[in-house]
Amino acid sequence: AGILNFCANNYLGLSSHPEVIRAAVEALEKFGAGLSSVRFICGTQSIHKDLEEKIAHFHQREDAILYASCFDANAGIFEALLTPEDAVLSDELNHASIIDGIRLCKANKYRYKHMDMQDLEAKLQDAQKHRLRLVATDGAFSMDGDIAPLREICQLAQKYDALVFIDECHATGFLGPNGRGTDELLGVMDKVTIINSTLGKALGGAAGGYTTGPKPLIDLLRQRSRPYLFSNSLPPAVVGCASKALDLLMESNAIAQSMAAKTQRFRSKMTAAGFTISGKDHPICPVMLGDARLASVMAEDMLNRGIYVIGFSYPVVPKGKARIRVQISAVHSDEDIDRCVEAFTEVGRKHGALP
Ligand code: PLP
Repeated sequence: AGILNFCANNYLGLSSHPEVIRAAVEALEKFGAGLSSVRFICGTQSIHKDLEEKIAHFHQREDAILYASCFDANAGIFEALLTPEDAVLSDELNHASIIDGIRLCKANKYRYKHMDMQDLEAKLQDAQKHRLRLVATDGAFSMDGDIAPLREICQLAQKYDALVFIDECHATGFLGPNGRGTDELLGVMDKVTIINSTLGKALGGAAGGYTTGPKPLIDLLRQRSRPYLFSNSLPPAVVGCASKALDLLMESNAIAQSMAAKTQRFRSKMTAAGFTISGKDHPICPVMLGDARLASVMAEDMLNRGIYVIGFSYPVVPKGKARIRVQISAVHSDEDIDRCVEAFTEVGRKHGALP
């Protein structure tokens, strides 16, 4: 009782939104608990098709395909799309599921330094010998709350005739003026070819993932993507809840704006208190502490003060870069944010992280 959660990916607070919950219950009652089938046998209902259409519309893309998770979407795409004659160029700090997806494909693999455009350009030059090039990056990086330089990536992709893939798990629903994501934020919606994202974070938080992009690509995935072909269909309640979350976001960007204002409040108050917060303008606010033990004891002490946060240390983040990752949600009130900052200040002083 009385504990505030500051470590969930529930950026917009939609997992407890009454309309989202009602939509899940209605879908459960009308369409059943589950399909006991993969999509292409008897696992497709009207709600699956409707949600795919809605996702494509939301991102202003031609088509979309649902998966049980974004991990699956990332596991399926590279192998289905790329051959041994192609190349994939991946940011070294990409999410584990992108790394695993790339491992499964037979394309030539390049790993460029984190958000380093010189290094990406050098690797693109080397990759000119291959048939097709795909640059793969997280839109927003979950450990640091930093945002990929998509404008520059897209310019390089154009110069070297490459496609751009982004993982938008920590962007869909809230980055950009209408919450469409990193591509909207940076004005490159027409330059990014493929988007993978999750329904398990800002969009209701239940589960599920998807790829959205050109229709021929989505058709290809329906024919070839193994996690799509060989894994069960999304349960109706999950579909209902994601579909309602998208409706709410397309009606108004008020929820996303409220979360952005709270993010700003937290970041500026913590910086004024003397903490270093990594990233910029993103609800992932890593409080950089350096020492692993310090991060762990401070997180424990924050819980004693009613604030639930988690310390991250090696191997999840590099050695010497331990941190407490705070995540802001639209459901936090201004008072909740202030309570969190006060607790950090007290705990930081007690453990020597602040003077
Ligand atoms: N990609 C990124 C960047 C993530 O942070 C995550 C989840 O942690 C995933 C993919 C996997 O998403 P899902 O939980 O839908 O499998």
